Amino acid sequence: MNLQSKRHVIEALKKEQDKTKVGEMRDTLPTWCPGCGHFTALHGLYEAVNNLNIAEKDFVVVSGIGCSGRFPFFIKGFGFHAVHGRAIPVATGIKIANPNLKVIVVGGDGDGVGIGGGHFPHAARNNIDLTYLLLDNSIYGLTKGQVSPTSPIGMLSATTPYGNISRPINPSTLGLAYGATYVARTFSKERTYTSEIITDAIAHKGFSFVHVLSPCVEFNKLITYKSIDPHIKHLGEDYKSDNRAKAMELSESNDPIYTGILIKENVPTYLDRANEIINKLQQS
Ligand code: SF4
Ligand code: MG
Repeated sequence: MNLQSKRHVIEALKKEQDKTKVGEMRDTLPTWCPGCGHFTALHGLYEAVNNLNIAEKDFVVVSGIGCSGRFPFFIKGFGFHAVHGRAIPVATGIKIANPNLKVIVVGGDGDGVGIGGGHFPHAARNNIDLTYLLLDNSIYGLTKGQVSPTSPIGMLSATTPYGNISRPINPSTLGLAYGATYVARTFSKERTYTSEIITDAIAHKGFSFVHVLSPCVEFNKLITYKSIDPHIKHLGEDYKSDNRAKAMELSESNDPIYTGILIKENVPTYLDRANEIINKLQQS
């Protein structure tokens, strides 16, 4: 795409966004490549904040490094652009310091299950009341196309010119294995569905994990909208999101690739349990 047509797309997008209520939440126009899957997650977050009537002063977005790391810049409100892989501990600190805030963590596949992979299990098992959006494009996009922890075997990239030889990680399955009380998967091609899931995830009390299949149109020529789309299947109306073993079985399926809420459990959060102990000690 030449510079002229890119400018045209950006102007059209700006006009479209200015017409919507969610446009009011925008601080600056997103600088992602036209067609990047991350636009869907950003729109989903705008919609969720509107749907749940969350005031600007009551939410904060914390990101790691990567194209998804730019998220806080595109939202009017509090934000923190953390160092690579460290968004979850920063967000945990914010939540514990001010439990009234809705804290959203945004990161990519490399940030979340590569360099920052050691933080995800502990936020999940402790049921820290955060929403974690993992935007998975199976590549490092910001640094121009290196293989990532979710890239499939055989994938060609800047660092795997003869094909990737490492087995990929499935972030949804990790979330389930780590005991997250809410795990959902969605696909950036489905904007309304993604907005509904992000809204539900933010409304959930406890650690809610949303795995967004979010293609990088610039550097990943293998995992694309076209390659994912024929395999997508929504979890049906009759699916009950309360069986972890079943959720793991469905999460591991590559064909179909299930989207929807894999698990949703009501369990006391980290702060609920901590406050219970504080109250007991104060009464003793
Ligand atoms: Fe999106 Fe890829 Fe462009 Fe980054 S490089 S903005 S992930 S399309
Ligand atoms: Mg990535």
